[in-house]
Amino acid sequence: MSLKKTFKRRHTLVFQLTLWYVVFFAVSSLAAFSIFYLLVNSLSRSYADADLLTEYNEFQDLMRSSDMQTVKSEILLEAQAEGVDKFFIMLFRPSGQILAYTDLSSWQNLQIDWDMVKKISDKELFQTVKIAGHPGSTRVIYGKVGEDIVMIGSSGRVNELFLANVRKALVIILLIFTSFAGFTGLFLAGRAVAGINEVSRAAREISGNALTRRVIVKGGGLEITNLASTFNNMLDRINLLINGMREMTDNIAHDLKSPITRIRGMAEMALTGQDADSNQQCQAADIIEECDRILDMINTMLLISEAESGAMILNRESVDIAEIVRDGCDLFMPIAEEKNINLTCSAAGNCLVEGDRSLLQRLTANLLDNALKYSAENGKVEISIRQTKKQVKIIFCDTGPGIAEDDIKEIFNRFYRADRSRTKPGSGLGLSLALAIAKAHGGTITTANNPGRGATFIVTLAGNRKQDDQGVNHDQT
Ligand code: ADP
Repeated sequence: MSLKKTFKRRHTLVFQLTLWYVVFFAVSSLAAFSIFYLLVNSLSRSYADADLLTEYNEFQDLMRSSDMQTVKSEILLEAQAEGVDKFFIMLFRPSGQILAYTDLSSWQNLQIDWDMVKKISDKELFQTVKIAGHPGSTRVIYGKVGEDIVMIGSSGRVNELFLANVRKALVIILLIFTSFAGFTGLFLAGRAVAGINEVSRAAREISGNALTRRVIVKGGGLEITNLASTFNNMLDRINLLINGMREMTDNIAHDLKSPITRIRGMAEMALTGQDADSNQQCQAADIIEECDRILDMINTMLLISEAESGAMILNRESVDIAEIVRDGCDLFMPIAEEKNINLTCSAAGNCLVEGDRSLLQRLTANLLDNALKYSAENGKVEISIRQTKKQVKIIFCDTGPGIAEDDIKEIFNRFYRADRSRTKPGSGLGLSLALAIAKAHGGTITTANNPGRGATFIVTLAGNRKQDDQGVNHDQT
């Protein structure tokens, strides 16, 4: 994974859990390894001191049982056996007179520490010193032999090399453990949040109008299962409320139809009656117009509900959608000419779909009406048909203001009108109905968001298989 990607993912729960896991693992391993290292270090120091003490005791015995000449030759032999660069003995008087010593060629800058000498009582003293020219540190023991003093030193080089190797091995093991912890953390965190991902995926789909979708979590622990079931319960409740609201508005709409039709009838009578003067006839005409508008809205709403609930009965037949588009263009041509809009229609030949002719006409008319309504004067509206083996696409392109990003998710909702469209006539039901019809035909409508350059609506419907037998050419796009 690139650094940029990692940086982007640093806010994800998986990344943070993994990071915590790795940090916790690395810190605890470091603490355990440090304790282990300190133990090894102090153990090796005590072994070295025990060796020096043994040498000191043996030297005391030798001094007691032999003369100085024998002592000198014995210690020379011993130093050779141990290695003259690893071990030395020096016997001296408190006055500084040196009585005996081993080969000191590797310890040329060896100095007696007189402060230590002064401190010696009955108990021997240990000291670690750095001797110039000798590699590593040297552990030294000072002790009394009668009235004289012996100084025995042992090189700590081997010990230091051993500890350096231990340190190196521990660092390598720590690195291996930490990377292993990273992979394990990633795996565990991935598993832990899999359920959450499933819930948020479902929430995303639901916010895109898939209200019937439910979360199914396999595994993931009790907390995730609880979250999923709470989420599903909440969806059931929302669905119930929405359906209840829809039912209520449908009922209201239904109940309103009769009184409005009656008002319309009365206004019609007033319009055609002998008693009304011209002013009253004008008002009656306005009432009829308003009643028609309300009735149209009510009928459209009921039609949308019917289509959305699946209760709509489609008069299915083989319909030439190209012909419907051509007829629609002819019908809207006067409006286009009025606004000096260049309305073009690229829908030659046949293009058969299986559907309800009058509903498909309504769908085409709604989108064509919008394209002309929202395009400014001298603009351009273009309708074309694309046909593939399985699908038919009707594309409505205009040079209007386009649809703002915030509005794009909303425009297919009932009664939604973008703020800047409120100056134009309309009810906010045209697109809802168009989408409901497309869906009732197993199709859909998508919108291309190109504000400032006009809007594009693409209606996708399933093609009619019979067409293949008629040898119509297919666009392979
Ligand atoms: P209306 O009666 O307001 O046209 P619709 O349901 O047909 O209702 O459209 C809903 C909203 O979508 C409109 O109010 C408008 O803001 C936006 N809209 C629809 N078609 C277009 C288009 N071709 N260009 C720009 N905006 C559009």
